Amino acid sequence: MATPLGFEPRITPPKGAVLPLHHGVSRFAILDRRFSSKAQSTKTRGQRLHRMKGTPNACSQILGNSLYSQFPLMKELNVEKLHVSIGDQEIVRGLSLRVPRGEVHALMGPNGSGKSTLAKVLAGHPDYRVTSGKVLMDGEDLLELEPDERARRGLFLAFQYPSEVPGVTIANFLRAAMQSRLPEGEELEATDYYAKLYEKMELLGMDRSFTSRAVNEGFSGGEKKRTEILQLAMLEPKYAVLDETDSGLDIDALKTVAHGVNSLRGPDLGILLITHYQRLLNYIIPDYVHVMVAGRMVRSGRKELALELEERGYDWAREGAVEPAFTR
Ligand code: ADP
Ligand code: MG
Repeated sequence: MATPLGFEPRITPPKGAVLPLHHGVSRFAILDRRFSSKAQSTKTRGQRLHRMKGTPNACSQILGNSLYSQFPLMKELNVEKLHVSIGDQEIVRGLSLRVPRGEVHALMGPNGSGKSTLAKVLAGHPDYRVTSGKVLMDGEDLLELEPDERARRGLFLAFQYPSEVPGVTIANFLRAAMQSRLPEGEELEATDYYAKLYEKMELLGMDRSFTSRAVNEGFSGGEKKRTEILQLAMLEPKYAVLDETDSGLDIDALKTVAHGVNSLRGPDLGILLITHYQRLLNYIIPDYVHVMVAGRMVRSGRKELALELEERGYDWAREGAVEPAFTR
């Protein structure tokens, strides 16, 4: 059975297993860092802010979110100088990105630039090798956790190409996913579950008969994407990575999906919205836009950057790169 992330973790700890040592260690490390950051003088923080202004992604975020940069343990998904390889090919090449909770960040880029690779690495896909860099979720090292643990801690990935799960109905799939996030011994009440499920389905314009259909089996592109957003609505994660949620949607389906995502926006959810086209961003207005080319971030800015990109194209974005980013 698939996990809420859509694939089996390599190692599933038995129920009730004692957490491995590194979980405890990382928590202490977080506490240590919190104390040391509190003890930092304003001067040191100022210096750090000044240094961060040099990086393309930091520039865009610094204006609206200076608080986040002063306190590195604020609630955010933090990708730092990430390098990812598959086989002997490096796909993500020193990428940094910060998505605080409560904000929507759009990640744009031409096909093949490594956007889906980033999404899958965040979720813990076993095929991709992180060769250096860090990924922290609310200060905790995400890369140390198995995919199911990442999901339980509040990370969600909507796939660009959602898998079919024959024989497992949407109702059962979602119920199992929600149940697995509850503390041991707690039962999900069937009546509460169905009330919530139907409410969210209505929001996404989905017919109730969908609940008894097998996950994504024989679904149209639009239906698959709606099912992904339904999972997002039900699981209420802290951070959601939506990979090309607009692909394969006609304009009506796009509006419904955007309406669903917009209704889930709020202070407790950080969204990384991956898209190739500007079109989706007319309906889900992002707080920030980042452009990735050939595994690197080449530009970051406010929502207007998406329009500029639409007008001038990815070649223009490439020219703005701090280091040259050639398309492979
Ligand atoms: P994007 O989502 O931006 O279109 P991807 O992350 O899907 O880009 O792909 C980036 C590059 O990595 C492409 O050149 C692609 O062929 C390669 N790649 C991604 N996944 C794999 C894989 N599993 N095996 C081999 N190459 C891969
Ligand atoms: Mg992709």
